[in-house]
Amino acid sequence: MSRIAYVNGRYLPQRAATVHVEDRGYQFSDGVYEVCEVRGGRIIDERRHLARLKRSLDELRIDIPMSEAALAVVLRECMRRNRVRDGILYLQITRGVARRDHGFPPPGTRPSIVVTAHGIDLAANERIAAEGVGVVTVPDNRWQRVDIKSISLLPNVLAKQAARERGAKEAWFVDRDGHITEGSLSNAWIVTKGGKVVTRPADYGILRGITRTVLIDVIRAQGLTFEERPFTVEEAYGAREAFLTSASQIVMPVVRIDDRPVGNGAPGSVATALRAEFHRHAEWS
Ligand code: PMP
Repeated sequence: MSRIAYVNGRYLPQRAATVHVEDRGYQFSDGVYEVCEVRGGRIIDERRHLARLKRSLDELRIDIPMSEAALAVVLRECMRRNRVRDGILYLQITRGVARRDHGFPPPGTRPSIVVTAHGIDLAANERIAAEGVGVVTVPDNRWQRVDIKSISLLPNVLAKQAARERGAKEAWFVDRDGHITEGSLSNAWIVTKGGKVVTRPADYGILRGITRTVLIDVIRAQGLTFEERPFTVEEAYGAREAFLTSASQIVMPVVRIDDRPVGNGAPGSVATALRAEFHRHAEWS
């Protein structure tokens, strides 16, 4: 079955689904994106993802080319046409097509919108979560507005590749003060020896993950102590547990940081329990 993509009002087989060479996403990374989980044929936390999308668009002064209701229909149509019950929806909006010029294009230039959907193997993900993953630390060399979910991801691409080449699943960015900011495509967390669950505040230094937001509710519902503060690489090395969060990985236990075992080197009980509970607190639509 050929995969179907939505491109500017049309559903096309992916090989025929193309954007213009002067699309500003292609030329300048001038656009934003969202990734939502699909589970059991439902979209997880759609409202929050669309709210974050709107915020990213507003920050870049891109006018959304369609209503949220119309977008919601397109997301479902992409799931249906690709027969995705468990998987991922990818949505990208760029500033549109215009003659190459760094400044904004003329008023009336229509933003481009692309939606794709693909299935994921839930059982394979559970097997990975049961083992846990390794992360490596890399300097955070990104711009200062990583709170915007922009498609400009070159440092993230290089960080993820560095992780791969060092035999790890994810890279954790470290700022100039030695604090871990977040992963190349996920938020970073530790559980202290005293059992406190810690993640960095969502200021401009990280993306405010939707999984992160929902997980804070889960942590409180489980009666755990939550601390929103920066933590250092040294603190992470000595933590009882570590884990990462993203829409596609939910809560993924981290069992190695820079080749040092975290805790006893196996997924921790807090991360495992939070993973098991997450979808009870998420919104299904
Ligand atoms: N940080 C970065 C840099 C990301 O790319 C992602 C994935 N979108 C996240 C955090 C996690 O966000 P979410 O939980 O919304 O997937």
